[in-house]
Amino acid sequence: MLVTPLTKLLGIRVPVVQGGMQWVGLPPLVAAVSNGGGLGILTALTQPNPEALRQAIRETHKLTSKPFGVNITLLPTINPPDYEGYARAAIEEGVRIFETAGNSPGKLIRYFKQNGCIVIHKCTTIRHAKSAIRLGVDVVSVDGFECAGHPGEEDIGGLVLLARAAQELNIPYIASGGVADGRGLAAVLALGAAGANMGTRFMCTVEAPIHQNIKEKIVASNEQDTVHIFRTLHNTARVFKNKVSTEVVAIERKPGGAKFEDVRELVSGARGKQVYETGDPDYGIWSAGVSVGLIKDIPTCEELLARMEKEAEDVIDGLVKVRVEKAKL
Ligand code: NAD
Repeated sequence: MLVTPLTKLLGIRVPVVQGGMQWVGLPPLVAAVSNGGGLGILTALTQPNPEALRQAIRETHKLTSKPFGVNITLLPTINPPDYEGYARAAIEEGVRIFETAGNSPGKLIRYFKQNGCIVIHKCTTIRHAKSAIRLGVDVVSVDGFECAGHPGEEDIGGLVLLARAAQELNIPYIASGGVADGRGLAAVLALGAAGANMGTRFMCTVEAPIHQNIKEKIVASNEQDTVHIFRTLHNTARVFKNKVSTEVVAIERKPGGAKFEDVRELVSGARGKQVYETGDPDYGIWSAGVSVGLIKDIPTCEELLARMEKEAEDVIDGLVKVRVEKAKL
C-alpha cells in the first residue's frame, strides 16, 4: 500500500484525488472514485445553484460511504456565481473536504477552516502556494503547465515546479497535471508529493458522465492535441484542440488582439456542456490536459485506481532493486 500524508489525512487507500471538472464532477463519477479508493470531488459550479449542489451531495452520500469533497473555483465567469451560497450549502450538508482554486480565495478558505474543514488549494506557482499556506490550507495541489483548465501564466512544468515545492513548502502537496498512470504517480511521489490530482484521466472512465464519443476521442488523441486559449486575456486555459479552440486562438492573434466579448459566444461553458451531452467534440470548448497522450483505454474507476496503485508500487520496487544491484557492483 502507498501510505502518504494525503492518504492518512483524508482516510483514503490510493493517494489520488479526482480534481474538480466543470460538467464532469457529478455524483456517479465522484462516488466511483471514492469507492475505488481515491478521493472524488463534486464540482460546485456544475450545479445551477446552491440548492442543486445540496441535492448532488445527498445523491453522492447515497452512492458512497467513503470520503468525498467539493470543488469551488474562483475564476472569471460569464454569470457571477453565488460562491458563498455554494460553500454554505456544502457545509450544511456535512462536507468537510474542499478543493479551492482560482483568484483571491482568502475569504472562502477562512470560512472553511473556521468550520473545521480540510482544504486542498490549487496553485500554479510557489508564491501562490506560500500565500495559501499562510491562509491555513492543509494541502496544496501544485498545478504544472501540463494540466487541463487554467495553468496560470508562468508556464513552469511539473518536474521543476514539484521539485521547487519540495525545497520550499512545509505542508503536504499533491501533483496536478500530467499524471495518468502508475508511473506518473511514482514519479510525483519521488518529487516529494503526497499524491496526485487527476482530471483528464478520470474523464476517460466508464463512470464519467460524458458521451462515449468524447471518451473515444481522448483515447484516439496524442499529447499534441491540446491548446491554450485566453493567453492574451491573462486567463489562460488548456483545452482540447478542435474547430472552436482553433478559431478562438486565431481571433486572439488578430492585429490589435481580442476582447473577451469577441470570443464569448464561442467559449461559453453552456456551449462546452453540449460537447459532453451530444458527443460532438467540435461543438464547443472542453478542458483537456497533455495527459490525453497517455490515455489508451476506458476502465472503471476501481480498475484504474487499483492498476495505478500496483504500477506505482512496481516502479518504486524496481528503483529499490536498482539501488541494491548498484550496491553489489
Ligand atoms: P463561463 O461560461 O462563465 O466562461 C467560459 C470560459 O470563459 C471560462 O474558462 C471562464 O474562465 C472564461 N471567462 C469568462 N468570463 C471571462 C472574462 N471576462 N475574461 C476572461 N475569461 C473569461 O464558464 P463555465 O464553463 O460556466 O465555468 C464556470 C467557472 O468555472 C469558470 O470560471 C471556469 O473557468 C471555471 N472552471 C472550473 C473548473 C473546475 O474544475 N471547477 C474547470 C473548468 C472551468
